Amino acid sequence: MPGDPFVVVGGGLAAARAVEALRGEGFDGDLVAVTSEPHRPYERPPLSKAYLRGQEDRENIFTLDEDWYARHDVDLRTSTTVVGLDPAAHRVTFADGSGLPYAKALLATGSAPRALTVPGRDLGGVHYLRTVEDADRLAGTLLPASLEGSGQVVVIGDGWIGMEVAASARELGLDVVVLGRGAHPLGVLGPELGELYGTLHQERGVRMHRQAEVVRLTGGNGQVTGVDLADATHVEATVVVVGIGVTPNVGLARAAGLELRAHELGGGLAVDGYLRTSHPDVHAAGDIASVPSPHYERPLRIEHWAAALDQGKHAGLAMLGAAEPYDLLPYFFSDQYDVGMEYKGYVDVRSPGYEVVVSGSATDRELVAFYVRDGRVEAGMAVNVWERMDDVERLIRADGPVPREELEGFVG
Ligand SMILES: Cc1cc2nc3c(=O)[nH]c(=O)nc-3n(C[C@H](O)[C@H](O)[C@H](O)COP(=O)(O)OP(=O)(O)OC[C@H]3O[C@@H](n4cnc5c(N)ncnc54)[C@H](O)[C@@H]3O)c2cc1C
Repeated sequence: MPGDPFVVVGGGLAAARAVEALRGEGFDGDLVAVTSEPHRPYERPPLSKAYLRGQEDRENIFTLDEDWYARHDVDLRTSTTVVGLDPAAHRVTFADGSGLPYAKALLATGSAPRALTVPGRDLGGVHYLRTVEDADRLAGTLLPASLEGSGQVVVIGDGWIGMEVAASARELGLDVVVLGRGAHPLGVLGPELGELYGTLHQERGVRMHRQAEVVRLTGGNGQVTGVDLADATHVEATVVVVGIGVTPNVGLARAAGLELRAHELGGGLAVDGYLRTSHPDVHAAGDIASVPSPHYERPLRIEHWAAALDQGKHAGLAMLGAAEPYDLLPYFFSDQYDVGMEYKGYVDVRSPGYEVVVSGSATDRELVAFYVRDGRVEAGMAVNVWERMDDVERLIRADGPVPREELEGFVG
């Protein structure tokens, strides 16, 4: 109720940007930031890249300096889990049974890795990657193996995290096998651009198994030794990394009776353009939030860094009544070997009728690819071409079809 604190729940980028925006916008009421993790909010992209390879300091992953919270009078509660939210009573409950009233709350609870369900899933040497502790554990296996020049890393899943871990492990000199379910890696990119990454990894020595169905992990003395596939293939492994997607942490919201988005629309917690949930004093941002997109005329739930950054800030402003409706286009990036990629927009590659128009060179991996439907650009992806995302956005937001020659000549 008025006078009670604003409570931000989450230990990722969305939470950090929200508290920063609240204080930046002049909110001088009590502000409590709660995270289950034992440290202040941090960013996850380095965990599959330089940090995993031992090339980046831990201090660099944190969004805000250690003393920022105290300097801005934010009550940061680490290792604290919110287990209950009562929107009508304006109250959160913590795992130790204590509670806290709030005037407004922001849920930025992020995602959790999907778990394998096959026999052998609990063997030692089977890793997931979400937290900095996960990254430390995995690095603790990969880095010594790389020094000894031994060991085969098997990555289950050919999505972004799987492919980035595969690239990092190869860069460390390890043997790497990727087991992917689809006909090509990175299914969200569609066949043409997914294959660009398939070829890249194969050139770097990664063995790719396509349409692989994992049926069991084999082991000895409690340690994983291999992976059995449905086609009777056995792949030996000293380390297994599982990257088969994530699910949004909406348990709190569901139990609180807040409206969730339908599975067909991407799931997650339904919010409006001000990132308000079905209860006006509870906002949501980042991986969990399903936000209406005026441009695509549908809700979008984006599990990427930039959405957490933009929506966290937006939610902070909206909690103060200082935001316009959210209208940013989705954006994400990936780094694998020497190939850097940026992507803007949204396309559902499962829905037929789109084509890919490429400008630049696929052989040199220096290109911008456009996803085009009925002449209109739905999304654009730049590979090793930099500082063109504003131009890509201009084409996506164009009033009508964009001439093909303009797209083909985009990279001069
Ligand atoms: C290894 C890795 C690499 C990635 N690389 C890229 C990349 O290259 N490009 C890109 O665009 N995106 C990347 N991402 C995705 C990006 O990191 C996520 O989209 C982003 O972290 C989402 O931020 P968030 O704040 O919504 O949630 P999260 O970062 O998931 O944070 C949620 C936090 O909330 C806490 N929490 C959950 N429930 C509770 C509760 N009940 N009480 C208290 N605390 C709670 C969690 O412990 C966690 O600290 C990567 C993700 C991973 C894991």
